[in-house]
Amino acid sequence: MTKQKNRGYNKTQKKHNRSNKKYNKQSPSQGGRKNSKSQGKPAITNVGRGKQKTVAAQVSCSGLTDEGKGIVQWEGKQLEVAHLMPGEKAEVVISSKGRYVNAELKRVITPSKDRVKPACTYYYECGGCQLQHMNAQAQMRFKQETIDALMQPFGKPEAILTMDDPYDYRNKSHMSFGLNKERQIIGGLYAQNTHQIISMEQCLIHDPKADEIGETIKDLMKSFKMQPYNEDTGRGFLRHVLVKVGKVSGEIMVVLVVASSVFKGKNNFVKALRNAHPEITTILMNVNNRNTSMVLGDQEKVLFGKGTITDTLCGLKFDISAKSFYQINPIQTEKLYAKAIEMAQLTGKETVVDAYCGIGTIGLVASQKAGKVIGVELNKDAVGDAIRNSKRNGVKNARFYQGDAGEFMVQMAGRGEKADVVIMDPPRSGSDEAFLSSVVKLKPKRVVYVSCNPVTQARDMKYLVKNGYEVEGIQPVDMFPQTVHVECISQLVLKND
Ligand code: SAH
Repeated sequence: MTKQKNRGYNKTQKKHNRSNKKYNKQSPSQGGRKNSKSQGKPAITNVGRGKQKTVAAQVSCSGLTDEGKGIVQWEGKQLEVAHLMPGEKAEVVISSKGRYVNAELKRVITPSKDRVKPACTYYYECGGCQLQHMNAQAQMRFKQETIDALMQPFGKPEAILTMDDPYDYRNKSHMSFGLNKERQIIGGLYAQNTHQIISMEQCLIHDPKADEIGETIKDLMKSFKMQPYNEDTGRGFLRHVLVKVGKVSGEIMVVLVVASSVFKGKNNFVKALRNAHPEITTILMNVNNRNTSMVLGDQEKVLFGKGTITDTLCGLKFDISAKSFYQINPIQTEKLYAKAIEMAQLTGKETVVDAYCGIGTIGLVASQKAGKVIGVELNKDAVGDAIRNSKRNGVKNARFYQGDAGEFMVQMAGRGEKADVVIMDPPRSGSDEAFLSSVVKLKPKRVVYVSCNPVTQARDMKYLVKNGYEVEGIQPVDMFPQTVHVECISQLVLKND
């Protein structure tokens, strides 16, 4: 497949191949001469009215927040400015109402040498990515410094494992559909913190196939007179489209998330979609008739194919359902899992708990080097996938259970069961006391903690360190290039054992 050609850019210089008419928010301009009149103190012009006060000011950026925003001082206050980089001087617009103060970048006066033109046309409007205005080195430095600071009480982290070609990596993409002011159907992503759809043909971190399918669906909606769902009125039919791509297998799942189970013209729609994209291997309909910001509802129906896709990761084959969690960047996941399993120091005899195991990926890869693996996961579809995946790969020494990982561990500890190694990979909220206190009772020799939120990870590590563990290794991995998110693995070892 000629990905780069299709998307109108090459590997070194990525550019959009079209202009987006809806894109009207000005990107902050770079360069420009210093305003000599306002040198030394912020140049403040009151351009506001009513109770909200809006002023323009010149500021200097001294560092970055955890969210990648520039830190500036203004009238004795510390403010955060999105898209501003350390060392830069800039003109910002500050709006205040009561105690609420918001600063937006208007113009960069002295750009950082690490500032680049974002590859994505929608960058300043979308908010899905937060670091595209930084070059790769600056992104890497930001993530490394974030992890170094959070993990400072535990030791010095290793250098972050970065991605060579940090675009097109997402194997799962959501798109939403709506009407613009001219009542034409648009499709794209929500603007940050809103449900306002930004009409876009492509997202540079999505798999290109997902975007092509999204475009086709938008066209088909017109010819099938299918209305997008309107959250305010509750009218309309198509809410979202979820596309999952097996990066190795090439299998593609399309989930049409709809507001009602009555799908008029269903068979013809599916036929037309398959005609346009013969590479689609399964199509599902998911009914979400609730007033919720959750994408998927409970009711699911397979319209074509087997209802799952299969992909290969770390040499094993995995079945993936619509609702199951599967790491979204498979290239980096292989590095992540290899490191996590290395940190588990398996010799072939150990009992390994794979907690928060999703579809069983880490546990099944680890099972090749372990005595036995016990996986626990809350989502029942994911557990079903994990059980199927162990059979499919001929793994005999792994068992998977559905339930809350904390409760499961409490029961394991209560029964006096043994675990040599616990690999845990909880959601962003981290683990809980029930889980962690049971780990302390079970006394595994090693705990390998994989996390997509190092803040909660550091909190949980503190608990384990207070209760008999010491940190032997910390490895950040860049699973989500262009965004502020960073994954981190830590290796904890039981003291005096
Ligand atoms: N280790 C897997 C999944 C990690 S994502 C992988 O690498 O793919 C975190 C998983 O934790 C999700 O599958 C989610 O469904 C599950 N989860 C969330 N809360 C849980 C809980 N209380 N107990 C068990 N699993 C939980």
